[in-house]
Amino acid sequence: MPNTALVWLRRDLRLRDHTALAQATATHETVHIAFVYDTNILDQLTNKHDRRLHFIHQSLEEIHRKTSCLITLHGDPIELIPRLADELKVDTIIAAHDDDPYALARDKVVRSKLQDRFTTVLDHLIREKNQILKDDGTPYRVFTPYSRAWRNSITPNDFRERTPDLTKIKPPSQLDTGRLGNHPITKIGFEPTELWLASGEDAALQRLQDFLPQICAYSHNRNDPSKNGTSGLSVHLRFGTISIRECFRAAQTQPGSTKWETELIWREFYHMLLANFPELGEGKTFQPSTNDIKWPGNPAHFEAWKAGQTGYPLVDAAMRCFKATGWMHNRLRMVVAMFLTKDLLIDWRLGEQYFAENLLDFDLASNNGGWQWSASTGADAQPYFRIFNPILQSEKFDSQGTFIREWVPELATLDNKSIHWPFQPDGTRTLETPLNYPDPIVVHKDQKDKAIALFKKP
Ligand SMILES: Cc1cc2nc3c(=O)[nH]c(=O)nc-3n(C[C@H](O)[C@H](O)[C@H](O)COP(=O)(O)OP(=O)(O)OC[C@H]3O[C@@H](n4cnc5c(N)ncnc54)[C@H](O)[C@@H]3O)c2cc1C
Repeated sequence: MPNTALVWLRRDLRLRDHTALAQATATHETVHIAFVYDTNILDQLTNKHDRRLHFIHQSLEEIHRKTSCLITLHGDPIELIPRLADELKVDTIIAAHDDDPYALARDKVVRSKLQDRFTTVLDHLIREKNQILKDDGTPYRVFTPYSRAWRNSITPNDFRERTPDLTKIKPPSQLDTGRLGNHPITKIGFEPTELWLASGEDAALQRLQDFLPQICAYSHNRNDPSKNGTSGLSVHLRFGTISIRECFRAAQTQPGSTKWETELIWREFYHMLLANFPELGEGKTFQPSTNDIKWPGNPAHFEAWKAGQTGYPLVDAAMRCFKATGWMHNRLRMVVAMFLTKDLLIDWRLGEQYFAENLLDFDLASNNGGWQWSASTGADAQPYFRIFNPILQSEKFDSQGTFIREWVPELATLDNKSIHWPFQPDGTRTLETPLNYPDPIVVHKDQKDKAIALFKKP
């Protein structure tokens, strides 16, 4: 049996059902675990209270608390991981495969240095890049046939738990103690912050267990932002504090879980697309015909959108909630993305970037997929002429105005009808319009026509 392995943790910040750890502990006597606070990523984060850093940091604290063996490094992993591997004299370095373009480029260099000592394993998805292809060998471009093929390809082994032998995880004997244990968050240049959800694998599992009894009502409740109708697991899936296999296994124990499983397959679909079409990560549209649209929207409208001051109550409530928490309900993500692109006529790439900077669950593949879907530039795009009416969306999905009242308090006393549109039909103020609520910055009906014209241009 080979001697010592190093597991490099990245987007798999847990100990349960962990492919890399299971493989390393099955084949090695001694396993070390390390995480790198990657300065190539961190140096680009201007907000020193970045919630994601806090989430990662707290999740690592839990791993170290449970193992007393975590090594943390701060710097460029391309330099640090090969150096650590040599210092620890490991024969194998295992990490979960990551299909983000940056991660692929990073791993390529690490592999060139470590040669075949470095290996990556499939962990954060059930199916990746080339595992589900059309009959002609090319990737699917539309979700429904992809999801059908995905379901047909699945065997119980795909969801099997990968159980590590945690007794094999050992602290390094020859390393200075400064690198054992988690760095204080301030030492890597960030500050602790408040999170709306608990971090770490124990909290993730609890969240899954709390959600399971409601899974059969998911189809019914999932569109109402004031209900706790969705799992809230996206952050945990993003950072791997829960295993995707565990989610599927748990869902399969419950009746009526198909719809929720379909959402997990959307995640697989968008990862498959990004892996096969990496240009999506560089701002290219999925539908080439929409690449060169000249979005005429203006910076003042973009600022109003970000601040939740558009005069469209549901949009404003969503954007204010987002600013305060770093999270947004899926229905609202679609509403605000559609509003930015089809009402304000602003390039979806700006919205995508703002989400990327602030979403606690930011995931390049899903964020890009969601934005391009909403902007009608993406895979399986809505026809561009099907445009959400933000007032009707509000009446339909926040019918009692509960969510709006919570986040736009200046509208809280309005009745259940006018809360969705506290103006005359043409957008002028009424005697009841609260003085401190802004006028609508655009007229939906007019903007809709302009959006359609944009897409029609050659
Ligand atoms: C404009 C826009 C941007 C988005 N950006 C992201 C992002 O950066 N990261 C992210 O994880 N999701 C993103 N989504 C998808 C979706 O909004 C979130 O996954 C969902 O709101 C998370 O809430 P939940 O965990 O309660 O989801 P649930 O409804 O409980 O769904 C379970 C899981 O399925 C996955 N999922 C659900 N819906 C989608 C979807 N439409 N696309 C891909 N995966 C999905 C998520 O991993 C989610 O945790 C985006 C959607 C839009 C429209």
